[in-house]
Amino acid sequence: MAHVLVIGGGVAGLATALLAVRRGHTAEVFERDTRAPGAALDRDFFDWHRPGVPQAAQPHLLLGAARAVLRAELPDVYAEMLRLGARERHELDWFDVRPPARSGDEDLVLVQARRIVLESALTTALRAEPDAVLRYGEPVTALTTAGGPRPRVTGLGTPRGGYAGDLVVDAAGRRGGSAALLAAAGCRPGTVERHRTGLAYFCRWYRLPDGVDEGPRRPWTVTGGAFAGCAVFPSDNRLFAVTVFAHTGDPTRGALRDPAVFEAAARTFPPGAAWLGLGAEPLSAVLAIAGLDNRWSPLADGRGPVVSGMVPVGDALTHTNPTLGQGTSLALWAADRVARTAHRDPGSPG
Ligand SMILES: Cc1cc2nc3c(=O)[nH]c(=O)nc-3n(C[C@H](O)[C@H](O)[C@H](O)COP(=O)(O)OP(=O)(O)OC[C@H]3O[C@@H](n4cnc5c(N)ncnc54)[C@H](O)[C@@H]3O)c2cc1C
Repeated sequence: MAHVLVIGGGVAGLATALLAVRRGHTAEVFERDTRAPGAALDRDFFDWHRPGVPQAAQPHLLLGAARAVLRAELPDVYAEMLRLGARERHELDWFDVRPPARSGDEDLVLVQARRIVLESALTTALRAEPDAVLRYGEPVTALTTAGGPRPRVTGLGTPRGGYAGDLVVDAAGRRGGSAALLAAAGCRPGTVERHRTGLAYFCRWYRLPDGVDEGPRRPWTVTGGAFAGCAVFPSDNRLFAVTVFAHTGDPTRGALRDPAVFEAAARTFPPGAAWLGLGAEPLSAVLAIAGLDNRWSPLADGRGPVVSGMVPVGDALTHTNPTLGQGTSLALWAADRVARTAHRDPGSPG
């Protein structure tokens, strides 16, 4: 069995550690932030400034692929998410009349919840595992390697000391900077493929009025034109977010940070008009994020892997256009894959 060192305690890092210990490995998670997700969801969601995870306060939907990993491998985590208020929605329920049933339809279920709901459920489960250690406020600042043309990562360093492991998992996210750690350890850089989406997201959170548990079923919650779009994200505990997507080339987009401008713009789209027309209570400022590239960073180049003993998962490996909602599904899938193969000799080609 392997001792797995995980850089980063976001969704991908927590899931990798949890899945690994449940397959008989031991795991240590190193998280730069001093704060851990807890049971106070609203406080952790609205009051926690997380510069390393800029998307944390943006709305998330979990696709059926994420739900499938959770239900199959981490059913207690999934049950805890539902207990915390996550809602299931079958994708075909958007239609007035369902299309003819096909095999696999039963998995087309979206999970409507803020990302913090998943992080909280994963953290609770991981804290209960005797073979897992969570180290908050301990950023990874170095990697240790054993030489050769393709160095093998044998451990990592933090301001508190060095740690040896059989496998290092890079779950440090889109702003993790593991490329610099690898370069400092003498590894050649891996190939990074990057494509700009040209999208900027502006979102604002609301709570449904008292006595209202569901928003309008119609219209469809995403509409768009050539220059902008609008989506409504129904979420846990009667919360919902309205998002306006604008092109990063639009010089006027900064005006959307003004709540009055934002709401006026959102109301020009059918879903924005329908949901804002409910008179919901705003819970946040307008939250903006840009720089939403598609990126693939596999720690390999044309000559093969640049290093052994280390694998990236989650946004450290790939981040995709968020309008497709794939990030958490890919992170959970990769975490599961790493946990299943962590026992293999990291130096072996398999
Ligand atoms: C606007 C937007 C909307 C999105 N919407 C969706 C959606 O609807 N559905 C969906 O599935 N996905 C969505 N995603 C993607 C999703 O948020 C991520 O893909 C997913 O959560 C995986 O994140 P992660 O754990 O890999 O990285 P992160 O959540 O970024 O976690 C990385 C962690 O590593 C820590 N860290 C970094 N460097 C170090 C270091 N050196 N030492 C120690 N710790 C370190 C950070 O502090 C952080 O906690 C969206 C993304 C964006 C940008």
